[in-house]
Amino acid sequence: MTVSVTGATGFIGKRLVQRLHADKHSVRVLTRSRSKAQLIFPVKEFPGILIAEEQDWKDCIQGSNAVVNLAGLPISTRWSPEIKKEIKQSRIKVTSKVVDLINGSPEGVRPTVLVSATAVGYYGSSETRVFDERSPSGNDYLAEVCREWEATALKVNKDVRLALIRIGVVLGKDGGALAKMIPLFMMFAGGPLGSGQQWFSWIHLDDIVNLIYEALTNPSYKGVINGTAPNPVRLAEMCEQLGNVMGRPSWLPVPDFALKAVLGEGASVVLDGQRVLPTKAKELGFQFKYPQVKDALRTILS
Ligand code: NDP
Repeated sequence: MTVSVTGATGFIGKRLVQRLHADKHSVRVLTRSRSKAQLIFPVKEFPGILIAEEQDWKDCIQGSNAVVNLAGLPISTRWSPEIKKEIKQSRIKVTSKVVDLINGSPEGVRPTVLVSATAVGYYGSSETRVFDERSPSGNDYLAEVCREWEATALKVNKDVRLALIRIGVVLGKDGGALAKMIPLFMMFAGGPLGSGQQWFSWIHLDDIVNLIYEALTNPSYKGVINGTAPNPVRLAEMCEQLGNVMGRPSWLPVPDFALKAVLGEGASVVLDGQRVLPTKAKELGFQFKYPQVKDALRTILS
């Protein structure tokens, strides 16, 4: 299979490309910067991978069997009005371009599958409610971003199979929220962040990559699919498990201000959570390698 991937140079994209390449699929990296992508995917390690800047995306998408759309300005940052605009616009712009290029591809060379990222922020935040794919959207800024992001992807031609993956907080070694949380834990001896009662809908990097991979290859994967582990935890438990795995006490709370100093208003992704269940993935028979946060953290930090 030939797969074009936007955001391929990011935390999730890198691992996905490695996996696709290892399984002998042909990968086209759609990037804003060839030089950056070449450093991440050196030709010696990734022979045959095609790297394309924006002017060449059209040629890449035409002739691909599938497209994975992961691009967007990172959310874990300080949110000035300009940055907030860019967080939304970067996602809509790339998604819109990808959709236009797919829709404009002549039949015969048109990709038949689009797997497009979105986020559990779609549901808004709550300490009491449980969300699955049928739940309505929330009212806050991230919910609005996700709604518009998804609405843009939904403009793809109806004969293209679209899987919208609402991704939870991805836990992995070299990036994402965990890489930013660990130094705070070291500094404050670890403990609940904020009140600790917020829900934390997480997923191990291997599982989100497997879910995207499955969505690419399995025709039953279509529509919205939550990309979260089956056992979300309250932040206090997540922090306790993190403390255990790191061999550090977890009785001192990490103050909100410390997390905000590291993540900016993007800390809301961690501080204002939601309990999201992967109902659809389970119905589809998806096997999570890491259903429990303790095991996920142990593998990541060992
Ligand atoms: P990263 O931030 O690691 O990478 C995203 C990629 O998007 C970058 O490698 C870059 O690719 C591209 N990009 C960055 N800024 C811009 C911009 N201003 N305009 C266009 N493209 C840009 O993301 P992740 O791998 O962590 O996540 C992938 C997607 O999944 C993102 O859209 C994210 O919002 C979503 N998601 C991730 C979660 C997580 O916990 N990681 C949770 C929920 C959703 P290049 O420079 O090559 O163009």
